[in-house]
Amino acid sequence: MNQHARLAEKPLPFIDVAAQRRRLGGTIDDAVARVLAHCQFIQGPEVRALEAELAAFCGARHAIACASGTDALLLVLMAWQIGPGDAVICPAFTFCATAEVVALLGATPVMADVSPETFNLDPRSCERAVATAKRLGLEPRAIIPVDLFGLPADHDAINAIAAAHGLLVLDDAAQAFGTTYKGRKLGALTSATATSFFPAKPLGCYGDGGAVFTDDDEVAARIKSLRVHGEGVDKYDTVRIGITGRLDTIQAAILIEKLKIFPEEIVARNAAAARYSAALADVAIVPRAGHQATSVWAQYTLRLKPGRRDGLAAVLKAQGIPTAIYYAKPLHRQAAYRGFPVVDGGLPASEQLADEVISLPMHAYLDPPVQDRIIEAVRRALAG
Ligand SMILES: *Cc1c(COP(=O)(O)O)cnc(C)c1O
Repeated sequence: MNQHARLAEKPLPFIDVAAQRRRLGGTIDDAVARVLAHCQFIQGPEVRALEAELAAFCGARHAIACASGTDALLLVLMAWQIGPGDAVICPAFTFCATAEVVALLGATPVMADVSPETFNLDPRSCERAVATAKRLGLEPRAIIPVDLFGLPADHDAINAIAAAHGLLVLDDAAQAFGTTYKGRKLGALTSATATSFFPAKPLGCYGDGGAVFTDDDEVAARIKSLRVHGEGVDKYDTVRIGITGRLDTIQAAILIEKLKIFPEEIVARNAAAARYSAALADVAIVPRAGHQATSVWAQYTLRLKPGRRDGLAAVLKAQGIPTAIYYAKPLHRQAAYRGFPVVDGGLPASEQLADEVISLPMHAYLDPPVQDRIIEAVRRALAG
């Protein structure tokens, strides 16, 4: 095999966490060493510093760091005292954690459909799901729109539905920290916003982590208590039932360093997405941010004609190019969620997307020659 052929077949990463690690180099080691020196591993000074920086970054009054994106969602619903008899509307085309937190609290997730163009909660289906919940004798309390793949949901439309029905809105921005909607960053657009710092998310740490954003002082105070077992004046005064939901100081120290390069990474992700879209728009349906929005491109997801996806994935895999299907099974088809109610009228768009979507490698370190190799392979595979 000659040098060129070997290069062409070198397996590519789906998300190049190692390239970012090389760029950050000693800054991360130094940040971790500082924590190892001061030994305040729980709620150390880096946690408060990170919270201040996260809040400033997205323009929210409060940022509350927590142990994962799932805990971020859970803590908000706990602070809102969502429980049995309550309905929470969520999209069916999402990662399971969106509905999991609702079910964990004994409330009922009511699954609404998405718009095939944005992959996100369809406002008309959301409105219908509120009626479905009432018909079932449940009390609608909240909506959890998701900003899937980094693309923002139609927040103005969803906020208007929430206002009309007296509902709270918890934005699941686990994949979309840094995304803008009509010129504003996600974080201060809804009653509360949750994000995740899982390593594969656009802003990831080196383990699990997440954060809640809200402008509501009372809710912020309750969440800070809930993440430490419902503490009152101190850890041994317990005023409510909570969880161990804190972010580790070491992860906060790592995130402070990563946040410094995040704006540049968002630019690089957008450049990579624009290159994909320019080169592939004639062979597949390419994603668009819409709603006067930008994306952080947690995923770059194509839609293909039914029946084309498995062939494409196999051809790319043989050339060392990984792909992923987010999500092959919408929530209502997952064993754990089959028993929960579905919006009247059903979930045709979620089912259609589950058959059409395929995500290509996407990260901030996708160099043009590597990306060209992916683009050429996709074009050749779809030409036949
Ligand atoms: C990743 C993700 C979560 C959960 O985040 P964790 O940090 O893994 O707990 C929730 N919702 C969506 C849409 C996600 O993609």
